[in-house]
Amino acid sequence: MHITKTVGIIGSGPGGLTLARILATRGIAATVFELDEHPLARPQGGSLDLHGDSGLRALREAGLTAEFKAVARYDDQGDALYDAQGTLHFQHNEASDGDRPEIDRTQLRSLLLDSLPSEWIRWGSKVSAVEPLPDGRYRVVGPAGSLGTFDLVVGADGAWSRVRPLVSPATPTFTGVLFIELQIDDVDSRHPAVAKLLPRGKISVVGGNQGLIAQRSSHGHVRAYFMFRISEAQLQQGLVDTSSPARAREQLKALLPGWAPSLLAFIDACNDTLAARPIVALPVGHRWTHRPGVTLLGDAAHVMPPFSGEGVNMAMLDGLELGLALAADADWSRAVKGYEEAMFERAASAASGAMEGLDFVSEHALDHVLEHFREIQRQVAAAGSH
Ligand SMILES: Cc1cc2nc3c(=O)[nH]c(=O)nc-3n(C[C@H](O)[C@H](O)[C@H](O)COP(=O)(O)OP(=O)(O)OC[C@H]3O[C@@H](n4cnc5c(N)ncnc54)[C@H](O)[C@@H]3O)c2cc1C
Repeated sequence: MHITKTVGIIGSGPGGLTLARILATRGIAATVFELDEHPLARPQGGSLDLHGDSGLRALREAGLTAEFKAVARYDDQGDALYDAQGTLHFQHNEASDGDRPEIDRTQLRSLLLDSLPSEWIRWGSKVSAVEPLPDGRYRVVGPAGSLGTFDLVVGADGAWSRVRPLVSPATPTFTGVLFIELQIDDVDSRHPAVAKLLPRGKISVVGGNQGLIAQRSSHGHVRAYFMFRISEAQLQQGLVDTSSPARAREQLKALLPGWAPSLLAFIDACNDTLAARPIVALPVGHRWTHRPGVTLLGDAAHVMPPFSGEGVNMAMLDGLELGLALAADADWSRAVKGYEEAMFERAASAASGAMEGLDFVSEHALDHVLEHFREIQRQVAAAGSH
């Protein structure tokens, strides 16, 4: 089936690119507008685990399983839980070919980009607004004027979407948890003591209203998030001055009294690219009345806290489901409406779990997280017995 209608996708994150690839393989033309000047303009973040029924399924239906397997890390699924004093409370080392293999975010973006006609991606195209036209189409507008006109515009432009105002007045709010992101290079050769704590996969540290998640990417790279429960006022003040790495390291250590030196070693080992990441969320159950010609996917539709590792998986599943719906039904308004109804349901359920994940940084964090780890162990045991 050849479809002459056109799709404008705002944002080349995992969601937008999955949609573009699904459309490409089903004979539907799309244009992707991305504010980054080029694919490597900005570090894309650390390691992601893709889930069997969402991220991995999207890659399978996009015909990219072989490309994924060439770079995926099936042996990086271990996990360990410490308290702030450095006592180990839980450990599991699932290194089999389970259904949550890891991939670096940069590799995921590259494999999706490489699968698309290069002229589909308009780098350096910051979208400032999307405007309805009298004929039912939509104009995508950048600072210098029109970037193009489309039958369907999809906002895949993340938490601060410029497309969302067309369908919903909702905006993300601060959840009370701030991540300070650190990166460590060549951990095995340059920081063996840190590497020993993090032999594979990830470790979590719960310390009441503070915490740490550290995770390996490929080539001995580690991304660590120190987490703090703070007020809106503290957020505005700035908890640490990330523009001055040496000062930020000292401020971070001062914020973590009583933490084991072995855990504070993550701070000494980090390179100079520290970043503050306030965790924001749209209301659980965010939805809108269908508006023909425009829709949202991924974080633009349902940004949620990252504790359950669902964000990228949900964005890719949205891209898949929307792409399949458009390919299957010539009535795009009906197709998009169907996609939205199903997406609202699954996003509401994932978002409510993700909000519970905020308990990871709370007074009763240890009990909460231990229960979570035991649940994972029960699931692994149940899967093994089948
Ligand atoms: C600290 C942190 C850790 C996380 N860890 C994980 C994890 O381990 N696993 C997981 O699954 N999820 C994780 N997430 C969530 C995950 O990053 C998101 O859910 C996911 O990236 C959403 O994908 P997306 O395609 O919807 O949007 P994004 O990845 O946000 O992509 C949006 C794209 O749109 C572009 N864009 C934005 N505005 C415009 C504009 N006006 N014009 C043109 N382009 C624009 C951006 O440059 C970007 O390329 C984490 C999030 C945070 C904050």
